[in-house]
This record gives sequence, C-alpha cells and structure tokens, in this order.
Amino acid sequence: MDFRFTPADAAFRQEIRAFLQAEWPGGTGDASVDSDEEYRQERAFEKKLAQRGWLTMAWPREHGGQGASHVRQAIMKEECSYCRAPVGGGPGGQATGLVGPAVMAHGTDEQKRRLLPPIAAGEVVWCQGFSEPDAGSDLAAVQTRAERSGDSYVLNGHKVWTSGAAYADWIHVLARSDPEAPKHKGISYLLVDMRSPGISYRPIPEMTGRAGFYETFFENVVVPRDNLLGEENRGWYVATTTLGLERSGILRVGAIRRSLDDLASYVNTLSARHRPDHPSPTRLRLAEHRIEIEVARWLAYRVAWLQDAGVTPSYEASVSKTFVTEAAQRLANTAVNALGLAGALALGSPGAPLEGLAGFTYLLTAHWTISAGTNEVQRNIIAQRGLGLPRG
Ligand SMILES: Cc1cc2nc3c(=O)[nH]c(=O)nc-3n(C[C@H](O)[C@H](O)[C@H](O)COP(=O)(O)OP(=O)(O)OC[C@H]3O[C@@H](n4cnc5c(N)ncnc54)[C@H](O)[C@@H]3O)c2cc1C
Repeated sequence: MDFRFTPADAAFRQEIRAFLQAEWPGGTGDASVDSDEEYRQERAFEKKLAQRGWLTMAWPREHGGQGASHVRQAIMKEECSYCRAPVGGGPGGQATGLVGPAVMAHGTDEQKRRLLPPIAAGEVVWCQGFSEPDAGSDLAAVQTRAERSGDSYVLNGHKVWTSGAAYADWIHVLARSDPEAPKHKGISYLLVDMRSPGISYRPIPEMTGRAGFYETFFENVVVPRDNLLGEENRGWYVATTTLGLERSGILRVGAIRRSLDDLASYVNTLSARHRPDHPSPTRLRLAEHRIEIEVARWLAYRVAWLQDAGVTPSYEASVSKTFVTEAAQRLANTAVNALGLAGALALGSPGAPLEGLAGFTYLLTAHWTISAGTNEVQRNIIAQRGLGLPRG
C-alpha cells in the first residue's frame, strides 16, 4: 500500500474543506435525521455536493460518477464526517455507498438507468430494511415474506432498527421468497417505494433523545417484479455486497478525528490549574487517542486502496470497522471523564462544554459496535477469512 496521497488528492482535500466551511453549518454527527429542518438542510447540502459531482465521485461516468479513485471518495467522506455533514442519500450514505454499488453490481440495465441517476443527483433517500426482531446477526433468518403474484411480489412482515425510515423515499429489503429452501437460498432482495400502500413505521426512541430509527411494517405491499435486485431466491448474495460496503470505517474516522480535535482545543482553553499538563492521565490519554486515530485512518484508507486495486475488501473492512468503533468509544469515555460532571450534560444544555457534544457522542457511539454488524460478528469474519479458522 502507498501511504502517500497524490498532489491532486491533497488539493481536493483543501477544496472540499473550503466548500464545507462555506456550505455546511454543522450538525450533531448522528447519521439519522430526526426533524424536518435537519432533513431540508441535508437535502440542500447533498444537492450541492451532487452538482460538483462529489456525491458519487468514484462511480463510473456512465452512471453519473466521475470515475475518481475510491481513495478520493474516501477523502470526501472523511472530510464531510469531520464536519458532521451527510454523505449521500440516507444514514451513513445508504444510497451512494450501499444501494448504488449494489445496483451497479447486480442490477439490470433498466434498473441502472432508472435508479442510479437520481442517487447521483442527490435527489433520493434510501433506508435499509434488513434486520427483524428475530434476525439481526443471523440475518439469513429473515421471515418477512415476499410471495409472487403475477408480475409482482406481495410483501408482509416486520423490520426493525430501520434508520431514517420516516425520511426515506425507498427501502432495500431482504425478504423470504422460498420458505422451503435452506435459509440462505430462499431470500430475495427487493427495492421498495416507501410510498407504497401498506407500509407503516413507528419511531424507536433512542437514549440520545433523538428518534432516528424505526420499526417498519409491510402489510400486503405490492412490489413490481422490476424491483427485484439480482435473481429471485439469490438475494443473500446481493446482500453480501451491501454488507461488505457498510463496514469501511472512514466515516467514523472523520467523526473521531473531530471529537479529539474539539476536546484538545477545549482543554487548551482551561486555566492552567485545570489543564492536563504533564503528568496528567488525561494528557497521556489524549495522546493515546491520537495514535489510535492514526491507525484507524490508515486501516480505513487501506479498504479504499484495495477497491482501487480491484480487490473486493473482505476481512480488511471488518478490521477497520472493529478498530475504529472501539477507539471511538474509548475516546468518548475520555471526553466525558475529562470534562467532569459538565461533560455529561445533554446536547445544547446551557453552559455545557462543547455544546454538550461530549455526552451526546458518548451515547451515540454506544451503538457503533452494534450497527452495521456487531463487533463480535466482525471478529468471527476476521477469524474465518483473515486467519483461516473454521466458520464460527
Ligand atoms: C443505531 C442502529 C441503527 C441500525 N440501523 C439499521 C438499519 O438501518 N437497517 C437494518 O436493517 N438494521 C439496522 N440496525 C440493526 C443492526 O444491524 C443489528 O442491531 C445488528 O446486526 C445486531 O443484531 P441484533 O440487534 O438483532 O443483535 P443479535 O444478533 O441478537 O445479537 C445479540 C448479541 O449476541 C452476539 N452474537 C450474535 N451472534 C453471534 C455470533 N455468531 N458470534 C458471536 N456473538 C454473536 C452479538 O454480537 C450481540 O452482542 C441498526 C442497529 C443500530 C443499533
């Protein structure tokens, strides 16, 4: 791996930094929108990214991209997440980072023509309908049913933890189309319009005080057969594309770089009596976090570099996800401890240091080791694919 960014990459980083400073007012770092105002702000910002071709810059030109490298795209994501800005069509870049690439890899020509341009233009928001009450880590256990009826499927079932459902135009769903087949072989991958009759959702309150994710219900929802992605009953293999893409850690790297910079700036403003001078444990911990972020950053760029080399990242993405999410929790812990009682104040509380972001981030990052596949599951993948151990 080449650890240097090209001069053009470095110039692009400066360009996107200047753009973010001018165009993005700041956010909370939560990937899910929980108000109309946030939604409008994110849409307007993403359209500006799209106008510059930055939203899908690593996509091929024929699908609305710029044919740029994945490293360049990772720079864009890192800088956006550093500024707590969105990166593309739903939580964590659902549309640009997951659905678009899955459609490119498995879609028909008609699907590519129909679904990719609105994503590249920043016009649509997607959410993910994979998990169910009895299918999380064991995702192939999904029970939502997709029954063939003429040229359509009829969808019935219950999804859970659907980030961003209330603000999504589309949802990508894993559903059981052959209940008799072995569990991995009877699943189909459907692309469903969220305005379809029979879809409802209700928010799941989070400990951060926000409502970014939902339970989603499908009751006799008719899905045209044209919206089947890949082959019927072979949706599991399409899902493995999406799941792999979800794990690269670059978004979280940008976020924790920002948290550490904010914390270091804050402690620098404290009076000498409170500042963590040598040999304060906080001072040493901040340095330790700086080292971890450096490691996390290169693990994430390694995934992008592999993609540019034409290799589909495998356990490398799990290594990146596992390391950065645990580093994030350690940093969040340091932040609330370093700020004392005030560090636990809620977001926006009067007098809260860092506007309450330390306490908020502590709560927010709690799910990072769970969402996008738990870290135990990532460790299983690393053991199996990275170390050649038997399947766990
Ligand atoms: C904030 C947040 C947002 C999310 N957004 C979405 C979304 O938009 N769409 C969506 O579909 N899903 C979403 N999810 C769901 C997420 O993918 C699941 O929570 C995750 O896959 C774990 O599933 P589970 O919660 O059912 O836990 P379980 O699978 O029940 O796991 C419980 C515990 O058992 C451990 N465990 C399970 N199996 C193994 C094993 N084989 N080896 C070792 N340990 C194991 C797990 O690691 C975990 O600690 C989100 C979750 C969160 C927290």
